[in-house]
Amino acid sequence: MSDINKNVHKFDLIGGRLCLDFANTVGWHDSREKSEELLTSYEELVNWSLQANIFNQQQSLSLLKKAQSQPSKAKEILQQAIELRESIYQIFSLVSNNEPPASRDLSILNKALGHAYGLIRLVPGEHKFSLKFLNCGETLDGMLPPIVQSAIDILTSEKELSRVKKCEGAPCGWLFLDTSRNRSRRWCSMADCGNRAKAKRFYHNKK
Ligand SMILES: [Zn+2]
Repeated sequence: MSDINKNVHKFDLIGGRLCLDFANTVGWHDSREKSEELLTSYEELVNWSLQANIFNQQQSLSLLKKAQSQPSKAKEILQQAIELRESIYQIFSLVSNNEPPASRDLSILNKALGHAYGLIRLVPGEHKFSLKFLNCGETLDGMLPPIVQSAIDILTSEKELSRVKKCEGAPCGWLFLDTSRNRSRRWCSMADCGNRAKAKRFYHNKK
C-alpha cells in the first residue's frame, strides 16, 4: 500500500476536540494578511481526516481514488468543508469571547447538522447500542458528519463550551479545549506561541 502521508502536510492536532482541530486548519487564523490555508486540496482534506482518525488508511486511499474520478465533485466538497470550517471557527471564536454567533454561521452549521443527522443510524453493540454515520468512510464528504457531531457535542454542553479558548498568541487564533485543572492554558502550544510570548516578555524586561 502506498503511503498517503508522503508529501502532504503534517497537521498539528492541539484542539482537544475534532471540530476545534478542524477549525485550526488555517495558519494564523485570526489574521487577514498572514493567514495561510492548509486545506489546499481535497487530498489535504482527506489527509487531515486520516491524521484526525476519522478515516483509516484504507478508507483514505479509496476516497482519494474516488476523488480522482470525480474531480469537480471533490473540489466542490473541499469548498463546502472550508465554508463549514469557517462557520465553526467564527461560532467558537465569538462564543469563547462571550459574544453571540452570527446567524449566517449558525444556519450553515444547522444545514450541515440536518444532513449529518439524516445519515445517523442506531447500531447494536455487545452491551449497548451506539450511533454511527452511514457510509462515513465511503462518500467523498464522509468526514463532515463526525466534525459536525463534535461541534454539536461542545455547543450543547455548558461545561465543555465554557472551556473553549482562543490562543493568546495573536494573531494565531487557534482554538482549543482547556482541560487543565485550573483553566490556565493560554496557548495553542507551549513550544510555539507560548515560547514566542516568553521571548517577547524577556525582551521587554531587558529593555
Ligand atoms: Zn497559538
